[in-house]
Amino acid sequence: MTDAAIIDGKAFAAGLRDRVATAVAGLKRDHGLTPGLAVVLVGEDPASQVYVRNKGKQTLEAGMESYEFKLPDTTSQEDLLAKVHELNADPKVNGILVQLPLPKQIDEQAVLAAIDPNKDVDGFHVVNVGRLNTGSADALVPCTPLGCLLLLRDYFGGALSGKKAVVVGRSNIVGKPMFNLLLQESCTVTVAHSRTADLPAELGQADIVVAAVGRPEMVKGEWLKPGAVVIDVGINRIEKPEGGTRLVGDVDFAGASKVAAAITPVPGGVGPMTIACLLRNTVTAACRQNGIDEPS
Ligand code: NDP
Repeated sequence: MTDAAIIDGKAFAAGLRDRVATAVAGLKRDHGLTPGLAVVLVGEDPASQVYVRNKGKQTLEAGMESYEFKLPDTTSQEDLLAKVHELNADPKVNGILVQLPLPKQIDEQAVLAAIDPNKDVDGFHVVNVGRLNTGSADALVPCTPLGCLLLLRDYFGGALSGKKAVVVGRSNIVGKPMFNLLLQESCTVTVAHSRTADLPAELGQADIVVAAVGRPEMVKGEWLKPGAVVIDVGINRIEKPEGGTRLVGDVDFAGASKVAAAITPVPGGVGPMTIACLLRNTVTAACRQNGIDEPS
């Protein structure tokens, strides 16, 4: 088989951001509404600082308001909850995101549970988890799996029904919501994890593979069904033999691209979709809060 087609998440995300910006311009023009996203960062984690900066920048570029709150590492749970309650009550804020991970003294679940589910643009609140699980149209869906779904829908022209999908990884932020999204598309879905007895055998059946493991290049090309479509969520930094580091996914890209029909690269695949979907979720939340039809 020839080398796999590259699923260009970077280009798709740019198009999605353009569509979000157009929707925001329409909300301003027709409804006098400028959606606002509040991002709360606690502590000095360098990776989190980069994420928060990018989120703020792209929010502004889409024409929305960005509100950033940087709280010290020593912030108490009580103070963080007070900030969340303040943002819940603020009508200018349509979306709230508390950047994870949080410092040890703070109970992450308690903070996520305090966010108004209708402003929970990360989709991590149990109410949104339940809505997604039950197929409710009100769900705000976690951004990374939503991004994966949009790429798959685009690749298959919407025809996902009946496909056999294997999701590798069962985390709350990627694997489990991905399972629900693919199930809603009428795929037959298997979720594999660290205790799966024979991962290559599972993958050998799959028309669609979504890898969200956090292990560099773990999924091998020879495990895949010829013609599979591979979505690689992993972001792993590894040492280069010649010195320095580079980013790789959870899939052995060179091996997989000899077997798969299509694959997302790392970087430039799923990564850029996450913030684009966050912007999309913020517009969705703003529309729902104001009784306005959501842009398609
Ligand atoms: P988690 O560590 O929360 O979950 C990893 C999952 O992989 C677990 O369910 C674990 O199984 C499973 N796993 C571990 N080892 C194996 C194995 N040998 N075989 C099969 N399954 C295994 O990770 P996340 O879901 O948060 O993230 C996964 C990857 O995606 C990471 O590389 C992360 O950086 C990346 N990521 C990328 C994002 C983006 O924007 N593109 C956003 C979020 C994450 P078990 O449950 O049994 O332990």
